[in-house]
Order: sequence, then C-alpha cells, then structure tokens
Amino acid sequence: MFDKILIANRGEIALRILRAAKELGIATVAVHSTADADAMHVRLADESVCIGPPPARDSYLNIPSIVAACEITGADAVHPGYGFLSENARFAEVLGHHNIGFIGPKAEHIRVMGDKIEAKRTAKRLGIPCVPGSEGGVTEPDEARRIAADIGYPVLIKAASGGGGRGMKVARTEADLETALATARTEAKAAFGDDAVYLEKYLEKPRHIEVQVLGDGRGNAIHLAERDCSLQRRHQKVWEEGPSPALNAEMRERIGGVVARAMQELGYTGAGTVEFLYEDGAFYFIEMNTRIQVEHPVTEMITGIDLVNEQIRVAAGAPLSVRQEEVRVEGHAIECRINAEHPATFRPSPGTITYFHPPGGLGVRVDSAAFQGYRIPPHYDSLMGKLIVHGRTRNECLMRLRRALDEFVVDGVDTTLPLFRTLVRNPDIQNGLYDIHWLEEFLKTGGLDLA
Ligand code: ADP
Repeated sequence: MFDKILIANRGEIALRILRAAKELGIATVAVHSTADADAMHVRLADESVCIGPPPARDSYLNIPSIVAACEITGADAVHPGYGFLSENARFAEVLGHHNIGFIGPKAEHIRVMGDKIEAKRTAKRLGIPCVPGSEGGVTEPDEARRIAADIGYPVLIKAASGGGGRGMKVARTEADLETALATARTEAKAAFGDDAVYLEKYLEKPRHIEVQVLGDGRGNAIHLAERDCSLQRRHQKVWEEGPSPALNAEMRERIGGVVARAMQELGYTGAGTVEFLYEDGAFYFIEMNTRIQVEHPVTEMITGIDLVNEQIRVAAGAPLSVRQEEVRVEGHAIECRINAEHPATFRPSPGTITYFHPPGGLGVRVDSAAFQGYRIPPHYDSLMGKLIVHGRTRNECLMRLRRALDEFVVDGVDTTLPLFRTLVRNPDIQNGLYDIHWLEEFLKTGGLDLA
C-alpha cells in the first residue's frame, strides 16, 4: 500500500480523497495555488506545498511543479481527482518515469477514451452499443452530407477532443450541415487545439444514463449500477440520481453486464464511467470518463462501496474488495450540485461566505470544502458543494431532499439552492419524467419563479 498520497486537486474532491486516504492510514499532501492558501483541503492535509499562482495552468495543471512537490514530500502516489490533470495520459506517464504511482487507469486507456472517435471505435469493438454516426473523423462537407443522409437528420457534430459539454452543433437539415460543420471545426480548434470532429445521430428525447465500473487491471471488472444524469443545463449535469427512474432491474443487469465484460476484456484499472444516451429502450454509448466523477457519491450511497478507497487499493496493486455478486443496490440517492451562482442567471458569485449551515440527519451527506468565512476565489469552477441524500425508496429520498434543501443556509454569495428547492417540488421530477432537454425547457419557459 502507498505511504503518502499527494492530492493534485482542490475543493470538495480534494477533501473527499483526503477522507479515503486517512481511513486507509495513508499520509496526505495537499498542493495549492496562492489563491487557495487558506482552503480546507490545505488545512486538513498532513503537509501542503504551494505550487504556483492562481491560474490553473500555472498551478493545478503544472506537471513539473506537482512532480517536484512529490519529490520534496516523498509522496509515492498522486490522486488527480476530476478535471485538471485527471485525464491527462502524459501526466500518468511522467509520474511513472519518476516512480510515482498514478491513482487512475493505465495511460493507454486514458488516451484511447480521451479521443472520442477512438473511444467509440473501441466501445464498438468491445460490444458496447453506440450512437449511429460516422466511422471516424469528418472534414469534407460532401462526406458529411453522405453520412448524414445515411443516418438521418437531425445530426450532431461533436469534437473528438471535446469535454464539458462544449463544441457540439446540431444540423436539423442538409441546408444547415455545411455551416454547422465549419463552425464546429473552428470552435473545436479554438477550445481544444484540435479541429477533428465526427457526426452522430442527434437523439431528440434521450436520458443520460451512465454505468459506474471498477477494474483491478488484471482481468477483473465489475459494474456498480447506473446513475441518471439527464437533468442538465448546457450539457452539464445539475442533478444526478440512482437508480434511474427509467430502468428496471433486468435492464440494469443487462447494460451493467455488457459494460463489465467490456472493461474486463480491456483490462481496465480503477474507477470509470461509461456514458450512454437511452431512448425507447435502447442504449447508445457516447463516451467514457477514465476517472472518479463529481456524481460518484450517488453510487456510494446506494451500494455502500467507497469508490475512492477502491481506486487507491487497485492502484497499489491490491484486488477489488468486492465481487460482482456482492454488489447490492439499496434504496435511492439523489445529488444536487450546489454552485456559487445566481440561481436564475447562473452568473458565478465568488466572494465570502458569511454564514454556512449545512443540513444533517439520517441519509444526508454534504461533500463541500466550504465553511463560514471562506472566500470563494474567482479563478475556478463554481461548485460550492454537493448535497447527496439517500432514502429507502425514491419517494422517501425526495421527501428527505426537500427537507435537507430547506435546512441548508448559505449567506454572502448567491447559490443554486433555490433552483433545487423548486425542482424537488416539481411533478415531472417527482414522477421521474424528464429527459436531457427537460431542464433547459423548464428554465426557458420561466419555470423557476424566484419571486
Ligand atoms: P462532453 O464530453 O462534452 O460531456 P458528451 O458526449 O458526454 O460530451 O455529451 C454531453 C451531453 O450532450 C450528453 O449528456 C447529452 O445531453 C448531449 N449529447 C451528446 N451526444 C448526443 C446525441 N447524439 N444526441 C443528443 N444529445 C447528445
């Protein structure tokens, strides 16, 4: 097992990793930018190292600084969390060259899944059903027209290096296609430094359903059921729950089995998520995330399995602590991503939290690095904390979530709490009747009445 883990991240996920390391009796090193010198992850770690100025490219993305921090402190492994360097294959390799463990999958798997064209090709080969689309990248309008005519309109043009819901363009008819292709390529180049794009059938009313997997890299891989992340704004997840209100036990077993077998064949190590769109009873692979995800607590709450603990164990060469037949889904869990943003305009609201009272009680979990007096810096994403609630049934979970949201007090900055208080009382949400466009429609039609 590792003796000392360096956490190459900040905010709530840095705290989450600290907790797992401490429970395993492993010492921790926090790294931080100058903007985060007072942050909770720095206070709670055994040691800390300042790795640069506020901009992420000069600190949390600075590979030489992070490697130097490992060498100064004698850390023997790095947990990258999510975002930042978590899906950077080169980072995993550089750590390897320095004999430092990377708590994540093999660099080759990060690389394959990081290129969405390659990822789809691999998924197909492993027997995972994919969204109909182009076989590879598309550059010429003529080629795009031929493929689009074949799969049928509307089509979606997506960036091969895309992420964070950016760089997607819909073409509803052939007349839109040429412009959409050119715009998508230009935007992809600007955002990701790579203008490779591909075509996919645009699904009109799917749900986003993702399967959590764990592999030990030695031929053993299991699935931990699914999360439904259909409630999105600008293709970014807002509310996640598990199990999905749209699946029954048989469908869950079927898709979980397909994914677990595929990961077994791949020899996948650590935690990962295979994401699907689900429409009319069929699953379509869209991408795989080769890291821990923001919404991982949903799975932890319904299975009781500590995903970060498993990540650390397998990275150190130990087998998974659970077998597939031991995984049980119990009850229901919902996660709300509470951002420091205006609840109607979604404008980031950095600043000082003057009062902070998180909810508590049975089945209530708050993953947050915030505290009273904490100043949210303007340099990073606006996730202030996650409220995760568990109940024996979906209904109990919703009632408990409503209570917990009403109990949550944050003063000094705007938060998206009022949005969730509205959502939890909405009949469509209560009935589990929503797809990936539901929230945008709801916001557009003035569903959020803050008066
Ligand atoms: P990213 O890596 O940027 O998150 P994804 O491929 O995971 O991109 O897609 C993000 C979201 O975009 C999905 O959850 C879904 O809402 C939407 N989306 C992606 N592909 C399609 C598609 N073929 N049809 C309709 N919506 C899609």
